[in-house]
Amino acid sequence: MIIRKKTRTIQIGSVRIGGGHPITVQSMTNTMTTDTEATVRQIHQLERAGCEIIRVAVPDMDAARALVRIREQITIPLLADIHFDARLAIAAMEHGAQGIRINPGNLGGADQLARVVAAAKHHATPIRVGVNSGSIEKHLLARYGYPTPDRPDALIESALTNVRLLEKQGFYDIKISIKSSDTLTTISGYRQLSAMTDYPLHLGVTEAGGLIPGTVKSSVALGILLAEGIGDTFRISLTRDPVEEIRVGFELLRSLRIRERGPELISCPTCGRTRIDLFSLAETVERHLQTLQSPLKVAVMGCVVNGPGEAREADIGIAGGRGVGIIFKKGTVYKTVPEAELVPVFIEELNKLEAERQKG
Ligand code: SF4
Repeated sequence: MIIRKKTRTIQIGSVRIGGGHPITVQSMTNTMTTDTEATVRQIHQLERAGCEIIRVAVPDMDAARALVRIREQITIPLLADIHFDARLAIAAMEHGAQGIRINPGNLGGADQLARVVAAAKHHATPIRVGVNSGSIEKHLLARYGYPTPDRPDALIESALTNVRLLEKQGFYDIKISIKSSDTLTTISGYRQLSAMTDYPLHLGVTEAGGLIPGTVKSSVALGILLAEGIGDTFRISLTRDPVEEIRVGFELLRSLRIRERGPELISCPTCGRTRIDLFSLAETVERHLQTLQSPLKVAVMGCVVNGPGEAREADIGIAGGRGVGIIFKKGTVYKTVPEAELVPVFIEELNKLEAERQKG
């Protein structure tokens, strides 16, 4: 049983973060923000995958202005990612950003920050104080050294110093992230930060890598933290199509029994008993499941010897035989289908189950 750490609540558009609200899965576009058509197309793909908050890079004034056209075509809250330039942060809020991610210490001084905070108050826009181990202030690195698992202090001190800059201006609509590319530093950093603040935390491992290494690093770090009740929202960063980030994010939440979205696929690794092309069958089924919404448990198993038994909990499944597939429901054989007809028959059965579930 996971006991969530109590944090304050902030609201980004229609989504509440912290304070026991559901842990949200977010991503970031990798299109040119000024290419609004491509950006909106990618956000629509992400929305369909379940993305709940989207962040876009705002590197210049044209990108800030493009936010208006993007926001009017999407349904999830839109965040702007800004570095160094207070004018961009203000322009992003004026053009519809529902949250901004900044590093308050690098906006060009107290006056610039005061202008950003005034705009954030005016537009009721929450700010994420986002610190990365690669962008820590030099004096903190000199004092604490580069963040390590034993000593993540520079990351934490940098984040809290930036938070204090906002608090000094009477601004508390804040969430915090301290991202490192190192798994153990991420875990120890967030653990310590969580003990020191009740602002909601955005979790993430930065520059985590491609699909396999990035998924493993992020799942280890975020999985441990979430299991300890730490974290209110997160992004899985992958050098991949951002839609994969959302899929991994929801699988992570599912594996911890925190949230469930869409069907779950149980499939066996195959062994010497397998007599059908299970890999391509599992891939086809997995692709189809991405189009379904209900939390069905679906099994794709290599043989009848152990298949239905191993997947007794599945709502529906296939066990491969010699030239046939046996479709089973809740561990009981339902019908036997020649291998050549297996995919369309099974997909039809899945669609029937989905329609029943949707009807309630
Ligand atoms: Fe092997 Fe059958 Fe288990 Fe798959 S379900 S791993 S084929 S024994």
